[in-house]
Amino acid sequence: MFFTENRTTTDSFWDQSAETITPEDLKALQLHRLKSVLQTASRSEFYGRGFKEIGLRADSISSLDDVRKIPFTSKQDLRDSYPYGLLCEPKDRLVRMHVSSGTTGQATAVFYTRSDLEVWADLLARCMYMAGARPGDTFQNLTGYGLFTGGLGFHYGAERLGLLTIPSGAGNSKRQIQIMHDFSTSVIHIIPSFALLLMDVMSEMGIDPRKDLSLKIAFVGAEPYSEEVRRRIEDFYGIKVYNSYGLSEMNGPGVAFECRCQSGLHLWEDAFLVEIVDPKTLEPVPEGTYGELVLTTLTREAMPILRYRTKDLTRIIPGNCPCGRVHRRIDRIRGRSDDMFIIKGVNVFPIQVEQVLMNIPEVGNNYVIMLRREKNVDEMIVRVEVTDRIFVEDMRRLQQLQKKIAHDLKGELLLTPKIELVEPNSLPRSDGKAMRLIDQRIT
Ligand code: AMP
Ligand code: ZN
Repeated sequence: MFFTENRTTTDSFWDQSAETITPEDLKALQLHRLKSVLQTASRSEFYGRGFKEIGLRADSISSLDDVRKIPFTSKQDLRDSYPYGLLCEPKDRLVRMHVSSGTTGQATAVFYTRSDLEVWADLLARCMYMAGARPGDTFQNLTGYGLFTGGLGFHYGAERLGLLTIPSGAGNSKRQIQIMHDFSTSVIHIIPSFALLLMDVMSEMGIDPRKDLSLKIAFVGAEPYSEEVRRRIEDFYGIKVYNSYGLSEMNGPGVAFECRCQSGLHLWEDAFLVEIVDPKTLEPVPEGTYGELVLTTLTREAMPILRYRTKDLTRIIPGNCPCGRVHRRIDRIRGRSDDMFIIKGVNVFPIQVEQVLMNIPEVGNNYVIMLRREKNVDEMIVRVEVTDRIFVEDMRRLQQLQKKIAHDLKGELLLTPKIELVEPNSLPRSDGKAMRLIDQRIT
């Protein structure tokens, strides 16, 4: 067992020695774990074959830089090895399976031994404790249970920490609000698009969360969102929002998480080896520069994944965090390299559109970007819900708003999309991750 023995919990730290380990000790631990995970990985069909081809063995690794001797693993490798090609343990040692949400193609399966689950739960307890959740809090987990890792992942982390845990799942807005009210929920886990939707539902029901509910903390993640959306959620609910990052291939949530300083997400380097590479050259970028996040599991038994190309774009934030944790911080995910679209020669990330929209008070809580091709000309349409207040007002105000959105987007993107304003709550919503981009161009 990696994390559960000899833990010292203090006022500030769930696992003091793990969180405040010295950089030298952390490096030594990483090297030790890297060698051991390489050994484990070589038992799988996929890595066993790959390592043999290039003559890679655990003793080929004598420093952390040697991680670069290991080939990258891609999502396609996981798909090609589906379902059991990366498995390193016999089936009688496995106790759980999840899959990635599959927003970008065929899903991939991830397996866990009992120890893998213990380590994962402990990492999540560490995250939640860091953000201020404590025994005595009521924790409502408003994310999908089942194959998605966000449900059970947070659930067991919260129980380990000792929170009263309500597995309320995704959807069912009114019931969620009722539960929050009746059981004085103080801590929630929610994806950003659902947090925005609940704001509209609460407004419709005449509920003011600041007066009528007891919320104080939200863990928000699983999909990209902007600083502007964080601010909207914090202002409306009167709470603190902490960014939660993870992916099924690395357990699920609990990979990186914001501390109370809210300035970047501590990536737990005793469990994951982090690299940021240029997505084109695959060479490491200098500290502080944006690139693709590449992660290696350091503790997993059932299914280690080495040098996994996450496609998520971020950077290491240089310098130390005032909270005293040694684990380096990554910046808010800017988007995935495969989210980026090109229109009229301009590269656009959906998050750039969101930043602009969410800064305009008359803009409501949902939007969608549509790309079309008419007579060989590409067109970008941004369909935007407006707030209740503006919609009943006159046409002139709406036209002004339309112009302002187009103008502000042009400032950010250097192209002028077509803006369509629609009524509040009229765009389709999903129970899972939001679909912000509909690309109808035939490529
Ligand atoms: P899945 O494995 O299906 O849960 O999806 C994981 C992916 O969700 C990651 O690779 C990211 O692209 C995205 N994701 C998860 N958490 C965040 C976050 N806090 N900010 C931005 N994107 C996130
Ligand atoms: Zn910190």
